[in-house]
Amino acid sequence: MRILVTGGAGFIGSALVRHLVGESDYEVLNLDKLTYAGVLSSLDPVASNLRYHFVQGDIADAALVAKLLAEFRPQVIAHLAAESHVDRSIDGPGEFIQTNIVGTYTMLQQALGYWQGLEQTEKDAFRFHHISTDEVFGSLGDTGYFTEKTAYDPRSPYSSSKAASDHLVRAWGHTYGIPVLVTNCSNNYGPYHFPEKLIPLIIIRALAGAPLPVYGDGSNVRDWLFVEDHARALQVVFERGTPGETYNVGGNAERRNIDVVQAICAVLDGQRPRADGRGYAEQITFVTDRPGHDQRYAIDASKIRRELGWEPSTGFEQGIARTVQWYLDNESWWRDILNGRYDTARLGLKALS
Ligand code: NAD
Repeated sequence: MRILVTGGAGFIGSALVRHLVGESDYEVLNLDKLTYAGVLSSLDPVASNLRYHFVQGDIADAALVAKLLAEFRPQVIAHLAAESHVDRSIDGPGEFIQTNIVGTYTMLQQALGYWQGLEQTEKDAFRFHHISTDEVFGSLGDTGYFTEKTAYDPRSPYSSSKAASDHLVRAWGHTYGIPVLVTNCSNNYGPYHFPEKLIPLIIIRALAGAPLPVYGDGSNVRDWLFVEDHARALQVVFERGTPGETYNVGGNAERRNIDVVQAICAVLDGQRPRADGRGYAEQITFVTDRPGHDQRYAIDASKIRRELGWEPSTGFEQGIARTVQWYLDNESWWRDILNGRYDTARLGLKALS
């Protein structure tokens, strides 16, 4: 089996590539532009494997995508390439429109042309799988869950660009018959997470003795999904999911942001105590809230469990402990990123100033 993974140098894409190369017989082609978020060293564990191939390029480059499809002849496209950070979408939405909407359109058009040229049995077996977010559903109050039937209500430039791309994918499936799948997942966390996202940002700033910035009063709730569980879910969906269907993927781990930060501090207190013997939680500081910050996301992932037998196997406390330990053991991975291109100040507030 051959699979084209877009965005395979990103956080979730690299977890999927490592999973497929390590745990299956798939031949994997990774197409990634290597934006600021693309980190090739995340693929070091599989880089020398003969079933792994990498091409640097843009998903919006139609000629390149067409050439790769004709030469590699994948049975599956797992489309993850995107601009993914809400704060960046507030400061500069243009790239989100270009990559998430125009880029997805380009992938669909090229996939369609390729798919139409396949034999009937190959056509039936082909899957275009779009990896999306629960943020397309908007924001919840204290109760309720997003299901696959929840109406779309995206609130940020990021989530609205992902909502647009979800609609394009379903429309191409409905109109042209190409077998598509969509998954909408909650917040991922785990090893190789880019330092701008909440969990790695807190770990790294805690170790540096810096203030730990929490938006607003820290009461915003997210569901947390361990990235290796997500990679397993994606394989289950593109192998056994029903074309045209959507599956929600969640971690059964709703936590307030402040609870996430406290949990990280508690693990660090045990694994790397501060030299002065005080707790890392002392470094927590509340900062002006992100504009339009959604209050709560929560996923009902019963469909994928019921129909495809997938459920998360990593509990939140276990996942956080593993993640903190990974950042302690892999300092050179994140130090290279910090040295090269990124500091851990909060983004997203520029629009307010
Ligand atoms: P990421 O930002 O870590 O990685 C994105 C990757 O896409 C990078 O390697 C980048 O170089 C590449 N890329 C960006 N623009 C490109 C382009 N034009 N052409 C080719 N490659 C390009 O993102 P992630 O966290 O791994 O998320 C992957 C997907 O999952 C995204 O579609 C995102 O919307 C979705 N998602 C993520 C989360 C999460 O918690 N991280 C949650 C729900 C959904």
